[in-house]
Amino acid sequence: SAKVIDGKAVAKQIKDEIAGEIVRMKDGIGIVPGLAVILVGSRKDSQTYVRNKKKACEAVGIKSYEANLPEDSTEEEVLKHIACFNDDPSVHGILVQLPLPRHMNEEKILNAIGLEKDVDGFHPLNIGRLSMQGRDPLFVPCTPKGCMELLHRYGVEIKGKRAVVIGRSNIVGMPAALLLQKANATISMVHSYTKNPVEITRQADIIISAAGVANLVRGSWIKPGAVVIDVGINPVDDAQSPRGYRLVGDVCYEEACKVASAITPVPGGVGPMTIAMLLSNTLSSAKRIHDFNNHKKAYAGCMYILSP
Ligand code: NAD
Repeated sequence: SAKVIDGKAVAKQIKDEIAGEIVRMKDGIGIVPGLAVILVGSRKDSQTYVRNKKKACEAVGIKSYEANLPEDSTEEEVLKHIACFNDDPSVHGILVQLPLPRHMNEEKILNAIGLEKDVDGFHPLNIGRLSMQGRDPLFVPCTPKGCMELLHRYGVEIKGKRAVVIGRSNIVGMPAALLLQKANATISMVHSYTKNPVEITRQADIIISAAGVANLVRGSWIKPGAVVIDVGINPVDDAQSPRGYRLVGDVCYEEACKVASAITPVPGGVGPMTIAMLLSNTLSSAKRIHDFNNHKKAYAGCMYILSP
């Protein structure tokens, strides 16, 4: 039966490493990394995500800054906050919690974030560089970066392997596929218009699933011995749970365990890694901006800086 890839444990290890680095940085040059989060509106899920990010920052010693704007704010007001954080030397990372209210132009707002502070990695220039050979973005989006970090830390060989990414969103599927091909895998993408998704997925040595559909990937979709990274977080009804629902991934876990060689559970897989990568991006941003220990060269690419 498949080895369980313990994202929670890896995330904790990374957070401990980050906390140690932050102490070293503070002692060395008197700088503490800072992360600014802009939240527009009052979506409950977004509020929870922002609260969790803030707590995670505090736990490792990153100073967090928050701008909470009402739902009916104008684009100009959001842009003004971004400009402020862009100019603030104590802020090394800026993120705008998505989704934005419908009346706002997401691209215009993401474009306004200073490239060197774009810790979510959603700036079109950073995504563009991610897709180019011989170029590296300043930041890699946190969830796909977390998937790659898990593969690296569990010693999964990527070079020359066949990888299938299910889903092609800007925040997960697309950047995950770009990262896998940068790591020299041969990639296929499966999305809602793909014919024969089973046949395609069954060829994969590595599967990253980010479709947002519970139990989409059955045991029969998986080649024996494949490594499965399940990004999906999907609520399903559960009368036994006090909340009336529980969270499952895209992959039918029990079936997959019998076929795969390794798999991430949900919860406790990719989820905790996403926040750890945000903290990692914020730390490497502060290091880059302050040229900490003249590490500039080592951190210029800033991919997998935490891998051993
Ligand atoms: P999205 O809705 O933006 O994109 C889903 C993608 O899946 C689309 O490209 C679509 O074409 C594809 N898709 C949908 N149904 C499909 C099907 N039946 N077969 C094949 N492809 C299909 O979603 P997203 O923002 O990329 O998130 C995907 C999932 O990952 C969600 O469950 C979300 O909650 C979860 N997520 C988890 C984390 C984390 O930290 N673990 C972070 C972000 C998103």
